Amino acid sequence: MSRGTAVVVGGGIGGLAAAIGLRRIGWDVTVLERAPAFEDVGAGISMHANGVRALDALGVGEAVRAAVRPLYTGGTRAPDGRLLARMDGAALERRLGTPVVGVLRADLHRVLREALPTGCVRTGEEVTGLDGLPDADLVVAADGVQSRLRAELFPRHPGAVYSGTTVLRAVTERPPLGPIDDLALTWGPGAEFGHLVFVDGRVEWHAVLDVPPGVRHPDSLAEMRRRFGGWHDPVPALLDATRPEDVLHHDIHELRTPLPAFTVGRVALLGDAAHAMTPNLGQGASQALEDAVVLAARLAGAPTVTEALRRYDAERRRRTQSVARAARQAGRMGHGLTHPLATALRDTALWLAPSELTLRAALRHADWAPPRLR
Ligand code: FAD
Repeated sequence: MSRGTAVVVGGGIGGLAAAIGLRRIGWDVTVLERAPAFEDVGAGISMHANGVRALDALGVGEAVRAAVRPLYTGGTRAPDGRLLARMDGAALERRLGTPVVGVLRADLHRVLREALPTGCVRTGEEVTGLDGLPDADLVVAADGVQSRLRAELFPRHPGAVYSGTTVLRAVTERPPLGPIDDLALTWGPGAEFGHLVFVDGRVEWHAVLDVPPGVRHPDSLAEMRRRFGGWHDPVPALLDATRPEDVLHHDIHELRTPLPAFTVGRVALLGDAAHAMTPNLGQGASQALEDAVVLAARLAGAPTVTEALRRYDAERRRRTQSVARAARQAGRMGHGLTHPLATALRDTALWLAPSELTLRAALRHADWAPPRLR
């Protein structure tokens, strides 16, 4: 379908990517974002080849590459530092053209914003429902995990629920003193600690805890030191390189009940609004980017918006819901295990797994080829 008009609700990574994709196929797009201004909030994003390829398809791959760090070394460890599974970034690069990359969310968001013309994104515009939106051929609901548009379209759906885990994370104030792995994950009973390195040498660390929702600490960094201070290097050093005021703390919500459709009438749901998943596979943002590419490609290739949305739903629902299931499962097998016997069995299985098997697990979701956008 050549040319049309679209309103995108939500100016996060998914919404901006959708706007870029639609503009690439010749559509007029307006993005409505409720935040009064974009602040450099959030921490880091680890992105697999599928996300990088989606950015290439949107025409912003080169600009993003300037802001990312390719992550070659690392893997999964036990709290005493024993390596259980090695990440082979060079092998991933040989197979997929890129290893996993680390990027500050703020940098990724800035590159996406800069790919859109002035006036395309309107901030300070809170959408309260479908009524009252500007006239358009298509509405893209990219309003995040607590999507108001999703609630309006699917009033009987339970919406996002607490996943059972809370995440504390921060970007260190300075690079660590010694050399460290590029991308690391450590699993202890009922807890996970991980880090990734950015292009400027600073490091994002995150800690996952299986606790009831709403638990907060008067001094989050002190609580992290109490909980993880005895774990292997560089965990204590990363905490030491962090300012207390930089620690973010979020309870993780997910769409545990899959949506029965990603489209209703002329509305397409995209990103976390459609398939909010736990962060265990680092795939949330990449799946939103994939959505954006597929939506634009199907609109370009179908005779009507209705047919394009039917194809978008068929293609994206199955894939994203399967990635979400896999992410939940990865969390259960990781920080979700608490019994010493269960953790010992898991650790042994990881340690014994041939490197080809570990590589294949990494390729499972990352090896995605985008449709071509003109
Ligand atoms: P959002 O980024 O939430 O954007 C939604 C936008 O809509 C916001 O700007 C919001 O202000 C706006 N909005 C909401 N309601 C309205 C309204 N009514 N009117 C107008 N505007 C509205 N993904 C990865 O790929 N790799 C990772 O390593 C990774 N790590 C993560 C770690 C954590 C702890 C968490 C919580 C998530 C992580 N993710 C990761 C997931 C990733 O951040 C999200 O999947 C991704 O940002 C989703 O983008 P989105 O645009 O769909 O939603």
